[in-house]
Amino acid sequence: MAELTICLGGNPNAGKTTVFNKLIGAHQKVGNWPGVTVEKKEGNYSYQGKSIRVVDLPGTYSLTAYSLDERIASDFLVKEQPDVSVAIVDASNLERNLYLVVELLELGANLVVDLNMMDLVRQKKWRLDVEQLSKSLGAPVVSTVANRCEGLEELQEAIAAAAKCQAQPLKIDYGPEVENALGQLTASINTPSRWLALKLLENNSQVKEWLQGWPQGEKILHKAEVLAADLGKLIADDPETYLIERRYGFINGLMKECLAKPLDLAERISLSDKIDKIVLNRWLGIPIFLLFMWLTFKLVFDLGSPLADYIDGGFGWLAEATKTGLGENWLASLLGDGIIAGVGSVLVFLPNILILFLMIGILEDSGYMARAAFVMDRFMHSLGLHGKSFIPMILGLGCNIPGIMACRTLESRKDRLLTILINPFMSCSARLPIYVLFAGAFFAHHAGAVIFILYVLGIIVAVLTALLFKSLFFKGQVAPLIMELPPYRMPTVKSVLLQMWQRASMFVKKAGTIILAGVILIWLLSSLPVGVEYASEQSWIGQLGKVFAPLFVAPIFYRAVRLLFYGDVAALHSLHC
Ligand code: GDP
Ligand code: MG
Repeated sequence: MAELTICLGGNPNAGKTTVFNKLIGAHQKVGNWPGVTVEKKEGNYSYQGKSIRVVDLPGTYSLTAYSLDERIASDFLVKEQPDVSVAIVDASNLERNLYLVVELLELGANLVVDLNMMDLVRQKKWRLDVEQLSKSLGAPVVSTVANRCEGLEELQEAIAAAAKCQAQPLKIDYGPEVENALGQLTASINTPSRWLALKLLENNSQVKEWLQGWPQGEKILHKAEVLAADLGKLIADDPETYLIERRYGFINGLMKECLAKPLDLAERISLSDKIDKIVLNRWLGIPIFLLFMWLTFKLVFDLGSPLADYIDGGFGWLAEATKTGLGENWLASLLGDGIIAGVGSVLVFLPNILILFLMIGILEDSGYMARAAFVMDRFMHSLGLHGKSFIPMILGLGCNIPGIMACRTLESRKDRLLTILINPFMSCSARLPIYVLFAGAFFAHHAGAVIFILYVLGIIVAVLTALLFKSLFFKGQVAPLIMELPPYRMPTVKSVLLQMWQRASMFVKKAGTIILAGVILIWLLSSLPVGVEYASEQSWIGQLGKVFAPLFVAPIFYRAVRLLFYGDVAALHSLHC
């Protein structure tokens, strides 16, 4: 004789029979339910020396039976009151499956909830907070993948533990009208069974049949009918429908608490539409875009520049160490002055570039980049460019290398070429020290304004160049107007980091090839003819500099600029003198 009886209940196809078979191994015995010809399966297993009888019930969606199968299941769950009822739940279909769980909890069954099919939950990338679910339901919850025997030991353990306790029925708040009717009915039934009263209000035929055998059955049934009719008028709804809705309301709240689902396509599209109402708004679109750009730059330079300083210091040290290590000879100079210093001066941009590509990756993967292009599209089209071309231009203000590299995201060859051609006019940050120096020397009182004008001038020249090239080389080619706006999604760390590295590694490769060659050429020009001091006036590069120097002789330049900017004719006269 078994010491404990447990049953496995749940929706059809939740995995009851699978759990059953795994629990009892080969000791399954199939019989018929008395009176009806539906198969009943039961078997035994032992756990910690105790023999346990398991009954595998037919599938049911609720305790209100609509079919024979359901009737057998709900009769067993309600009337036989097994020591432990195990609700096998298809966790990948949680909302619908929880309905039966909630009904069983209201009944006061000694319940263990088995979240089966957890493999499917993981596949769907849902995040299910099992602990929170257990807390909210007030019942033990275990997760299993029954067909792979995952979690079955925990299930057995939970069953054994639940057998030792007596669960309290779950009380859902159905609102004052229902609670009032429930109160009156439980008082007249003379049992504390809230569940029974609920089923009577729901007009549940099984329970009504059952009650007819009670001594005061007819009276209670009559009372219930009157109360249900009154309630129906009060809530202006059929009580059964109303109660079902409230239960689903409770389940809905549970789901919000315990389950985080990635949105499906239709939900994502509707959410995207809502976000786009703001992001693509006529007035807000451009400010939001500028805000994102500003944020990108802020991060690139605030985070990147200190790191760049470290790299700069590192290469400086390495160059010095090489020169002292190898002594005074041409090899030390080639390595120290040429290669290490030269390649280092390029690699210092690596942190900025990595952060920049990280930000671009996030903006692209989230779907915002397509919106930014859309927002800028009208203006860019007037230049004969695609909306997307604006991104490389903005990036060019930080550094032209990633700016030009970002042109890879443009699909049409014409857009790519035009955008690349105008990019160098965007004043990159490396030019800023030179702007500061010259503006300070020539326009001490207006240095800030002059630097700003230089930036704007760069942009204007870029725009004019675009217009010129468009009419020269790409006449009559109309950029396609269609802009695809994919739904927003959460960028994944892996994809963003991968893109960042793929793009940045191209930059590193350039440093190792073309830039390395350039650096060696400049080293040669600075070191020849043999015997000159490195990069001195006598070196080839020094002599080359001298050829251009007269152009930059300060007084001439200064007066010309004064004339240009202030209309200072006196300056012109003194130039003649
Ligand atoms: P029942 O109707 O509740 O008795 O469900 P069954 O035990 O017959 O299972 C229905 C189907 O689900 C079967 O094909 C099982 O192999 C499968 N199944 C059971 N448990 C799991 C699980 O945890 N994960 C997956 N992926 N399939 C399962
Ligand atoms: Mg089955």
